[in-house]
Order: sequence, then C-alpha cells, then structure tokens
Amino acid sequence: MKFYFPDSQDLVSPTYDFVNDEYSPYRVRQRDDVYAHQAVTPIPYDGILVSKAVVDGSMKGAGKYSAPQRERLYRLGVRNFFRLPDTCSTIGDCGAFNYIDEERPPYDVDEVLDFYGRCGFDAGISIDHIIFGYIPQESDTEPEAAWVERQQISLELAENFLATAKKHGASFEPVGAAQGWGPDSYAHSVAQLQKMGYGRIALGGMVPLKSHEILACLRAIDEVRNHDTELHLLGINRVDSMEEFARHGVTSFDSTSAFRQAFMDDRNNYHTATGAYTAIRVPQVDANPALKRLILSGSVSQAQAITAERACLRALREFDRGENSLEEVLGALAAYESLVLDPKKKSYLAYYERTLSGAPWRTCPCALCKKHGIEIAIFRGTERNKRRGFHNLTVLEAKMRSLTFG
Ligand SMILES: [Zn+2]
Repeated sequence: MKFYFPDSQDLVSPTYDFVNDEYSPYRVRQRDDVYAHQAVTPIPYDGILVSKAVVDGSMKGAGKYSAPQRERLYRLGVRNFFRLPDTCSTIGDCGAFNYIDEERPPYDVDEVLDFYGRCGFDAGISIDHIIFGYIPQESDTEPEAAWVERQQISLELAENFLATAKKHGASFEPVGAAQGWGPDSYAHSVAQLQKMGYGRIALGGMVPLKSHEILACLRAIDEVRNHDTELHLLGINRVDSMEEFARHGVTSFDSTSAFRQAFMDDRNNYHTATGAYTAIRVPQVDANPALKRLILSGSVSQAQAITAERACLRALREFDRGENSLEEVLGALAAYESLVLDPKKKSYLAYYERTLSGAPWRTCPCALCKKHGIEIAIFRGTERNKRRGFHNLTVLEAKMRSLTFG
C-alpha cells in the first residue's frame, strides 16, 4: 500500500529561531527551506502527488506556486524540484476539486500530457470531473443529469488521454480516473476504463463518502475488475479500513488530512500511535489576525497581551526542562486564554493539562519532536504548525507500516 502526499508547497525553514520567533537573516527560501521528506526520518510517504491546478492556479484563486517556482518545476523536473530521494515516486493529476464549479474541466488533453511529460512524473491521472452526490441503492433513484454528464466527460477525456499518450510515446504510466455516484456507476466507469486499456485506475469523488460506502463501491467494482487492475483512492485516508480496501485491489491512496489536522483541527491536532492530543495555543500578538482585532477595538491591551504571551512561552519551556510545575504552566495559559479566547468557545485548559501530562513529544521517535521538544506541541505560526503536520505524517506512516496487506 503506497501513500502519496499531495503537494501544496508546504516547507519549513530548518534555521528558524523558536526562541525569538524569527527567520535567519541569511535564509533563502527556495534554497534553504525543506519539504517533509527532507525534514523527518523515516520519510513519511512513498511519493508525492502534484496537481496541475495547484501549480498553475485556478478559477478559485491563485495557485500555490509563484511564477518563478512554476518555471523551476518545469525546468528541473518534479524529482529535482522536490529534491526527492529515489525511494519516492510521483503522480500528477489535474486537481479536479479546483474546478468543481465549472461546467467542463478547463484543461485539454494535450496541455495535461505536456504538464506530466515536461515535469517527468512517474504516473499521470486522466482529466476528470468530480460528481458530488451519492446514491447507495442506485436502482431506487435516478441520478441527476449533471452527474451522468460528468461521468461521460471523464470517460471521454480518459479515452482521448490514453490514446494521445500512446501516440506520443508518453514516458509516464497513464492512470484512468473513475467517477460515479454509487457502487454500480463506479463499477461502470472502471469497466469502461479497463476496456480502453487502463491497468491502474484512480477513484475520484469519494472524499465525502463513509468507509462503508467506499467499501460498497469497491465490492461492486470487484465484479468487473481484472485481477491485475490496481486502484488508487483519491483524497482518502482511512487507516482503519485500509487492510480491507487492499483486499479489493486498492494499492495506493493520497491525503493531506493528517498534515492539515495539525492546524485545521480544533483539538485532535497532535497525533500519536493510539490517538491525538491538543496542541497548546499561544497565538502571536503581532501576527494573529483575531488578536489584532481585539487589540484595535480596545477590548485587549497590547502590552498586557504581550506580557501574557511571553509568560506562557517561558512557562512551557521551563515545564519541559522540569523547572516548574504543571499548575504554574496552566496558570500562565489560563491568564493568556482569558484575554484572547472567543467568548463563544469553551476553554482548552483541560485538554492542555492532558497534553502537558502526557508530554507526547518526549516519547515520539520522529526527528522533529526530538529536535524541537515542546515547541512542536505549541499551536502558533506556520513553522511550528507545519512541523507538527510533518510529525502527524510520520505517525500515519508508522500506522500504515503496522498493517498487514495481502
Ligand atoms: Zn514527532
């Protein structure tokens, strides 16, 4: 089972100064900053997935790449651009989520083939159009006309994609994208893609589905699947079900969720082998928009906030060195929280107490926890939060390795 990490240009600066919260004056972002596979060992994924929409920008707004970054990706190729080790493989896709509101995908086959070929991907997924709708018993309900249309568009583009890739002697493995709105319609897509000649098929549009719904689709696909056809689950991370998914031909998946939970999840943002802890929020007075608003409106005094922020950081570091008690740290955190917490929100202090008592960074085997200690458990700014995301990826990787497939 291979896990691909979708790229969104998430890097950290190895020379970031956590005590003064500043970057090195000598830092050159594109030269010095590192990706997850350079920041932690073991490498927390088998490969990366890069979307054309993320590189090029899309109707939903600017891409994650600046124009010079895009140029460098094309010039260096995906492997050199990401400084990938030989053990990591690469998949390109179109990033269908970015053009979900359009009537048709905004790319044609030639430009997508050009993107995959020029970047030197190992594999490339055909252009697809996501169907957002699910009918568990398809015989009971008629699908919306737009869903049928989107499936047809995806299949036509897949056929054209494979034929043109073959004609041009593409150097990457073409992967067909299957879309559906239920078990039978996914099986229909897979059958059609196999007939076209695809031996590897990516299942799209399943992100909102529950695991048992994904399984129902996989069972229906089993009825038509050639024994050597490999399936990829786009955007899915269900560790608990992966062994079962594997029995239905799934050999790879990709997901950002473990990474993103580090800063998007309110509470389960520091993962461990058996569960999750809550990272300790110490927002930066000078860089936190919500806090800035409170200060500007006069409801919080800036000087008071700065004093409380510093007291928290000091107390947390002293606690980690064994120089103060849990009560003292919680006291400092309570004082800062009373200034900055949204009155509609519940206090985090009980969760912080659990995190500090468990001190998961002390036992985590990942290189980042070893190096940064308690800093990685502090919810504050991109350098800490992304490192915690990279740590979460190592936890996911270890969970995947403990599963048995076959
Ligand atoms: Zn760790």
